Amino acid sequence: MAGKKINQRHCSFCGRPESEVNCLITGMDGYICDACTEQAYQIIDDMRNERQNGAPSVLNMKDMPRPTAIKEFLDQYVIGQDDAKRFLAVSVYNHYKRLMQKNKGDEVEIEKSNIIMVGSTGTGKTLLARTIAKMLNVPFTIVDATVLTEAGYVGEDIESILTRLLQVADYKVPEAERGIVFIDEIDKIARKGDNPSITRDVSGEGVQQGLLKLLEGSVVLVPPQGGRKHPDQKMIPVDTKNILFICGGAFDGIEKKIAQRLNTRVVGYTAQRNVATIDRNNLMQYIAPQDLKSFGLIPEIIGRLPVLTYLNPLDRNALRAILTEPKNSIIKQYVKLFEMDGVKLSFDEEVYEYIVDKAIEYKLGARGLRAIVETIMIDSMFEVPSEQRSELHITLEYAKHQMEKTNAARLQSA
Ligand code: ADP
Repeated sequence: MAGKKINQRHCSFCGRPESEVNCLITGMDGYICDACTEQAYQIIDDMRNERQNGAPSVLNMKDMPRPTAIKEFLDQYVIGQDDAKRFLAVSVYNHYKRLMQKNKGDEVEIEKSNIIMVGSTGTGKTLLARTIAKMLNVPFTIVDATVLTEAGYVGEDIESILTRLLQVADYKVPEAERGIVFIDEIDKIARKGDNPSITRDVSGEGVQQGLLKLLEGSVVLVPPQGGRKHPDQKMIPVDTKNILFICGGAFDGIEKKIAQRLNTRVVGYTAQRNVATIDRNNLMQYIAPQDLKSFGLIPEIIGRLPVLTYLNPLDRNALRAILTEPKNSIIKQYVKLFEMDGVKLSFDEEVYEYIVDKAIEYKLGARGLRAIVETIMIDSMFEVPSEQRSELHITLEYAKHQMEKTNAARLQSA
């Protein structure tokens, strides 16, 4: 009897003999019984749930990219716009410092630094926001403010902004709660004119009021499928306190307001000197919160977007650089496309200048560069894959010929 006991194997965790358990799994130096396996699984599962519901993956200062590193990363993808890059880098860095501080119960509470970027369309606002999200590896979404309307009107409810964020975060609420939302065309919800209208204005102040709630940080009920609230839809509560909002807008005509403000200040001797240093060709760089107010954003919204920055118009040099320099520049993308067919694609240097000239001529800006390259390359992309060739060189003559064949009107609608 005693001998049998000595030979019996035991669970290395609970010590129970083989005869008292249903199943004993053998490891290198020990055993585990079915009950202990189940318990271990339960512990792991609890930990996983805790991480998903309460504490998303740990942030620490050591791993946080510094503002200079964030800017360097942006430099690889976005040409110029140094001021905007610096503002973004610092704000995002501070935002994540704030998230880290949250857990420590500090007395000094760092406030959220939502950002507003003002600059003509196609100067890189979206690209900046998208690139920064790529670097930080947090849920990121772009929403267009023009689809938003006040509750009760046709269009999407304000809360649907967060639906997209939830979707990209795979519905993991804690992940979404520290994501970044880029709200494009924020200028389109500005109040038109100074008179707040006799009836309710569908796309004006009401929407701004709704947006305010999100920007300042509150728990909002988000329809998981988006669109309008539906009585049968189960809402998901999302706290926007730690979501970073980056707003962008072209604010067409705001230069006039800036100029007016700068001019009215011109009184006295010191002002005289300031006027001399004003660069009239790029008034956007002097943008101040009161210009946004004159444009029709309500002061409360402006207050919730404390970081105001601008984008420069793209000049010839910038357009030329955009064509070839960014890590995934348009030309590099086409070279890659051909490479996949085993064809080495190259261009005459003058072709690049020609493309830029056309983009300027048609007033297409950076967005137009792609449309022009596409026009030049379309026939080659159609034919080359079925030809036996290993090289393709695009000359200025060929580029011109391709462009002349195309209806300019088609390009202009790009
Ligand atoms: P915005 O949001 O200001 O209207 P986008 O960021 O959407 O403009 O820019 C449109 C496209 O133009 C981008 O996808 C990119 O290809 C190009 N582009 C614009 N500005 C820049 C820039 N500064 N550097 C590199 N590419 C740019």
